[in-house]
Formats: sequence, structure tokens, C-alpha cells
Amino acid sequence: MIPSQGALEGPDPGESVQKRVLIVEDEPAIRDMVAFALRKAGMEAVHAADARSAQTAIGDRIPDLILLDWMLPGMPGIDLARRLRRDDLTRDIPIIMLTARGEETDRVNGLDAGVDDYVVKPFSARELIARIRAVLRRAHGEDAEGVIEIAGLRIDSAAHRVFAGEQTVSIGPTEYRLLHFFMTHPERVYTRSQLLDHVWGGGVYVEERTVDVHIRRLRMTLAPFGKDGLVQTVRGAGYRFSASE
Ligand code: CA
Repeated sequence: MIPSQGALEGPDPGESVQKRVLIVEDEPAIRDMVAFALRKAGMEAVHAADARSAQTAIGDRIPDLILLDWMLPGMPGIDLARRLRRDDLTRDIPIIMLTARGEETDRVNGLDAGVDDYVVKPFSARELIARIRAVLRRAHGEDAEGVIEIAGLRIDSAAHRVFAGEQTVSIGPTEYRLLHFFMTHPERVYTRSQLLDHVWGGGVYVEERTVDVHIRRLRMTLAPFGKDGLVQTVRGAGYRFSASE
């Protein structure tokens, strides 16, 4: 199905932290249609034709969401979903399964495997993008406007801005990405290496102490608003964003 220009939503002006979507699909026509729709919607599209190359792509950089075809050569999509759910690093990546019509009974298996949503082929680009946005918002604990608020600190991913109460927090691009990751994954400890994978991407060579530098800058950014205590050091483990002391 070739989407017409008019059927697509324009880029979301707020998606300045570009969402990276991994398409795992062996049919080039569908893959290309989806990639086109994603880019049109202001997202980054990467693709893999089977489960094995999908795992390589995920190792390279953790995507924000995976569109996973059920019928793939080699390992079926559902088995890859189960495998991703078992691994700490990939457990929380939202997954939308692409299925053929008439595979409704398979959905039960998919829900067991922890899949977030389904899109039945043939689908329109508009429907797909809407589902992706909804799943991403849910996964990140954002409201419909893309806003998350924790302990008086508010991040507005649509406006790409941070507020402490009514005051605007002026923040650097890396610190913003770090804070966005923390606020979408609160109350959990991440090692430096995990933060590098999630915030910088595994394909980039960055030393672990770079994380410490940006954590320090993030705290300095939040300190004037009394919010630096939200970014906590967990001795011997890493860092955590937490509303409790
Ligand atoms: Ca297929």
C-alpha cells in the first residue's frame, strides 16, 4: 500500500528528541512504506529483515520502539519478542506486532509475550503512526500532551522544555536527553554502561566517565531549583532518578 501524502500526519514539531523505530520485516514493500511514513512523521527508521539482524541492530543502539512482523524467516517475531522481554536491557522496549488478518488467536500468545499492541495488515500509515505515538506515550508515562511531572520537575517533550514549578530550566542537549531518560524510567538504578547504551547509543565510543561529567552538569542545572537531589548516586552501582531521599 502506497500512502498518499495527504493521508500522513506531518512531523510532530515536538519530537526534537527523534524517536528511533526499528522495523523488523522481511517484505521490502512494507518495510519501505513504513520507513517512509516514520520519516514523514519526524521519526528515525532503521530496519532488519530477520530476528538475527534485529538483535544486531538493537545491540548497536536501543530503539525507542520495535515494529515486529509475526512471520519472519528463521525465528518468528513472537519468539524474538519473548527473548527481548527476558533481557534486562531490552525488557522495556515497546513492541508493536504486525500481523496478517485472521491471526487473532495468535494475539493471545502475543499478549503473553508482553507485546504492547497489534497492527493488522494491511494498515494505513496514519493508523500505524497514531498507534506508535500512543504506545510511546504510554511507555514513557507521558500524558496526551507528552508531559511528565515528578516531584515538581516537569519535562515537556513536545516543547522540548523543562520546568521547575513555574520556572523554566535552561538545560544543555545531552543533559536534556539524560533527564528525559531518567524521568521516563524513574526509581530504577542504571549503571554507567546502561546509561551510555540508552542515552548515547551503543554504537558510539564514549568513556564511562563521560556519564559522570553529564550527571554533574545535570545536577548543577537542577541545583538552583532545589531539584538536584532527584539525581542520586547509588554507590557501587550507578545512578537513579528518584523522588524519595
Ligand atoms: Ca513477513
